[in-house]
Amino acid sequence: MVHGYKGVKFQNWARTYGCYPEMYYQPTSVEEIREQVLALARQQNKRVKVVGGGHSPSDIACTDGFMIHMGKMNRVLKVDTEKKQVTVEAGILLADLHPQLDKHGLALSNLGAVSDVTAAGVIGSGTHNTGIKHGILATQVVALTLLTADGTILLCSESSNAEVFQAARVHLGSLGVVLTITLQCVPQFYLQETSFPSTLTEVLDNLDSHLKKSEYFRFLWFPHSENVSVIYQDHTNKPPSSSANWFWDYAVGFYLLEFLLWISTFLPGLVGWINRFFFWLLFNGKKENCNRSHKIFTYECRFKQHVQDWAIPREKTKEALLELKAMLEAHPKVVAHYPVEVRFTRGDDILLSPCFQRDSCYMNIIMYRPYGKDVPRLDYWLAYETIMKKVGGRPHWAKAHNCTRKDFEKMYPAFPKFCAIREKLDPSGMFLNVYLEKVFY
Ligand SMILES: Cc1cc2nc3c(=O)[nH]c(=O)nc-3n(C[C@H](O)[C@H](O)[C@H](O)COP(=O)(O)OP(=O)(O)OC[C@H]3O[C@@H](n4cnc5c(N)ncnc54)[C@H](O)[C@@H]3O)c2cc1C
Repeated sequence: MVHGYKGVKFQNWARTYGCYPEMYYQPTSVEEIREQVLALARQQNKRVKVVGGGHSPSDIACTDGFMIHMGKMNRVLKVDTEKKQVTVEAGILLADLHPQLDKHGLALSNLGAVSDVTAAGVIGSGTHNTGIKHGILATQVVALTLLTADGTILLCSESSNAEVFQAARVHLGSLGVVLTITLQCVPQFYLQETSFPSTLTEVLDNLDSHLKKSEYFRFLWFPHSENVSVIYQDHTNKPPSSSANWFWDYAVGFYLLEFLLWISTFLPGLVGWINRFFFWLLFNGKKENCNRSHKIFTYECRFKQHVQDWAIPREKTKEALLELKAMLEAHPKVVAHYPVEVRFTRGDDILLSPCFQRDSCYMNIIMYRPYGKDVPRLDYWLAYETIMKKVGGRPHWAKAHNCTRKDFEKMYPAFPKFCAIREKLDPSGMFLNVYLEKVFY
C-alpha cells in the first residue's frame, strides 16, 4: 500500500520553480501506481505528474495534483551483454546506472552534463549532448513500457506499438507513466578531453573541419568578446589523467566568479569585463583530461541558473551566433553571462524531438543567480528567442521558452500526430499540468 503525503514542497534543482502537490507518492511497484494512484486520480478527477530527478529548469515537472516520485523504482532489470542492451526501471538515476554498466563492460554512447537525472526524465525532455554523429539521448532507447491513464501497460518499440514509440521517446511526461526503458549501449570506452582557446570567427569559419576532427565537439563563446574555448572529446587508450585544480576550479572559477557576478548585479557594465577576465584566467591555455566516458561527459554544475537552449538547423549556426553578438554590441545595456555553449546533434525521427528530421546546433544561453539573486535577463531572453525563431529554432522542452501551441504547430511537422496519440492515450488530460496546457491547448 503506497502512502500519499500532503504538504510536500517540490522544487526543481535550479530553484526557479516549485509547487505543492496535493498528494506526493513514492511507489515501489507498478501495482501501487495503477491500483492506487491512477485509480484514485480517475475516481476524483485529479491530475497526475511523474517526476524524475527534478532537474528540469522549467515548470515541466510541477503540479498541484498528484505527484509520483519514481525514486524507489530504480533497479537494473536486465543486462543483455550480447546485444549490449540494458533494461532499467524508469526512476533510475544515470549516476546509479553507470557503475552497473561499468561492471558489464558497457556504457551509454552519449550523456548530458549531469547524471543526477533519471532515465525517464532525460528522454522525456529531449536531453542532448554534442556529437554530430550522435542523436539526443532518447535515440538510445530501443524499447519502453508505458502505463497509460486507463491502467493499460503498453510495450513500445520499433516492432510493437511503433507509432506510440515514435512519440514516447520524447514524451514530456504527457503520455502516461514510463515504467521501464531498454537502452542500447556500446562497449565501455575512455575519452580524452582537450580544450584550447580560439576566436568566434575562427570557429564559425571552420565549423565543418572542427566537426570532422572531433567526435564530441562543442565550444563555449564568451559574450561581449571574440573569445571561444573549443572542447574536443574523443576515444582514447590513454590512462586516466586530470588537469583539475581546486584553487583555479573552485576558489577562482566558482567563489570569486560568484562574488563578482553578484557585484555586477549593481554594476551590470562589469559583466563584459568579467567574461574577458575569466577567459584570460581560466580558458587561455590548452588543457587535457582522460577518463571513463561518463566521467568526461558530465561535470559539476555549480551555479543555480536560468537557461534557454534552442535547437536550430545546423547550417544556421554562424548566422544565428553572429546576430546574437551584433545584438549585444548594439545594445550595451543588455548583458550576457558566459558561456554560450554551442553543441551539435544528429537528426532523428522522434515526433517531438527538437532535432526531428534535421541535424541541429543547440545554442545554450545562461544567466546565473549569484547567491540565489535573480539577474535581469528579459531583454537578452527576448532578443535570443527572436533570433532563434527567425532561423527556424525549436526550444529545449526542459528549459525556459515562451512558446505556445501555435508556435509548436509551426515548428514540428509531426505535432498533430503527437497530439492525436496523446489525446487517444489520455483523453481526460490526466497527465497535463500548467506547462503542458500551454503546449497542447
Ligand atoms: C545542472 C543541469 C545540467 C543539465 N545539463 C543538460 C544537458 O547537458 N543537456 C540537456 O539537454 N539538458 C540538460 N539539463 C536538463 C535536464 O537534462 C533535463 O531537465 C532532464 O529532463 C532532467 O531529468 P530529470 O530526471 O531530472 O527529469 P524531471 O525534471 O524530473 O522531469 C522531466 C520530465 O520528464 C517527466 N518524467 C520523469 N519521469 C517520468 C516517468 N517515469 N514517466 C513519465 N514522465 C516522467 C516529467 O513529468 C517531466 O515532464 C540539465 C539540467 C541541469 C539542472
